[in-house]
Amino acid sequence: MPVATATAAGQSLRAPLPVLGRDVTVPLVTGGEVTYAALDYAASAPALQRVWDDVAAYAPYYGSVHRGAGHLSQLSTELFEDARRTVAAFLDCREDDQVVFTRSTTDSLNLLAHALPAGCEVFVFETEHHAALLPWRDAKVTCLDAPRSPGQAVRTLERALAGRDAHGPALVCVTGASNVTGELWPVRELAAAAHAHGARIVLDAAQLAPHHPVGVRELDVDWVAFSGHKLYAPFGSGVLAGRADWLRAAGPYLAGGGASRRVTRRADGGVDVEWHDGAARHEAGSPNVIGAHSIASACKALTEAGFDALVAREQHLLRTVRAGLAEVPGVRVLSLFGDDAPRVGVLSFVVEGWNSSHFAAALSAEYGIGVRDGLFCAHPLVRVLLGGAPGTRGECGASGAAPGEESLDAVRVSFGAGTPDEHVTRFLAAVGELVSGGAKWRYRTEDGRCVPVV
Ligand code: PLP
Repeated sequence: MPVATATAAGQSLRAPLPVLGRDVTVPLVTGGEVTYAALDYAASAPALQRVWDDVAAYAPYYGSVHRGAGHLSQLSTELFEDARRTVAAFLDCREDDQVVFTRSTTDSLNLLAHALPAGCEVFVFETEHHAALLPWRDAKVTCLDAPRSPGQAVRTLERALAGRDAHGPALVCVTGASNVTGELWPVRELAAAAHAHGARIVLDAAQLAPHHPVGVRELDVDWVAFSGHKLYAPFGSGVLAGRADWLRAAGPYLAGGGASRRVTRRADGGVDVEWHDGAARHEAGSPNVIGAHSIASACKALTEAGFDALVAREQHLLRTVRAGLAEVPGVRVLSLFGDDAPRVGVLSFVVEGWNSSHFAAALSAEYGIGVRDGLFCAHPLVRVLLGGAPGTRGECGASGAAPGEESLDAVRVSFGAGTPDEHVTRFLAAVGELVSGGAKWRYRTEDGRCVPVV
């Protein structure tokens, strides 16, 4: 039976979904132990208990996919192909879309980069995660200025696309939710702008899919990429789903067994290959059936829990965190689109007079709270948000940034379907204590990071 908690508005909210590690305790440098508060979901979310149970139930039946004649091999093949159908349903794909299993979002976007038609132009905002910013090495890339509102994002893209040769192929790559600010991007409007100018669009849903329904048809995007480990399924798989034509026209991403339908030796000693047309074309080698199965399990679990309830609960946590941080003097929450922009449970901030690494180390060592600090693989975006050149940390101690100065990087807190209220309230209490009273322990710099002196 779901346990309900109540918000200030009296609205009833479902309890967090059970995840692994919810009872794990960690030592505090000041003595004693506490249950670990995992507030780094944007990097990797804990596995859903349901995903773990589904993987464990299948594990004894594990067999090779697509190859064997044995019963378990056939069962595993069916499970693998069934996972593809589940992901297609989760994303509301079009009939003729392909779902390719990859290793991660990074892998998915590199696969798409490999499949770009000759002469393809790529348009990408400077605010993207490096996984979306960097794979387009063989294309002509136009990197667009960070917009300061969703409307400005659409206008910037429209202007850039209007200036291109409309006869050649073009691709826009955009995130659904920022991994730094959590802000939602106007994907539907950007897709309409791309299509109006004859371009296609790929959605980096690494941060969106764990928090929101992603409908390929509703958003009218050509491809979607996401990672299992951010979707509560940390078993090494990701997804690229969408239009089949570019994928079919491209050579296989990896050459090898599984991708090839027929291989023959030529009279001149060479080898001729006929490659598969479908998803298998880009899935050479033995597929990660457990990874695919775990993603399908997470898709089902989130769908059954209901995104309405998940979003309501997460927004309740987000409001609590934002209101709490707003009361702490010297804390500045980073934002591109402003306070009222819709966002997911990902939030970065700087603390006046604190080195971010020091702050994050103290949250971990003294309060058992796991957050992230740094530039979050989005260096140009963090540079825009901080209004300066990030990248060099000060020495450890509460002097990384002098009072009144901008910090050189940031602290990120992120949460999701498995986060209990207590993690968020402990985090806010810890931030308040650290800012008002300072760290209780001493820290030193090791390999550029702050660590407690033990
Ligand atoms: N895109 C965004 C928005 C991300 O936040 C991340 C990871 O943090 C990625 C892409 C890359 O994901 P992965 O490391 O799973 O390939």
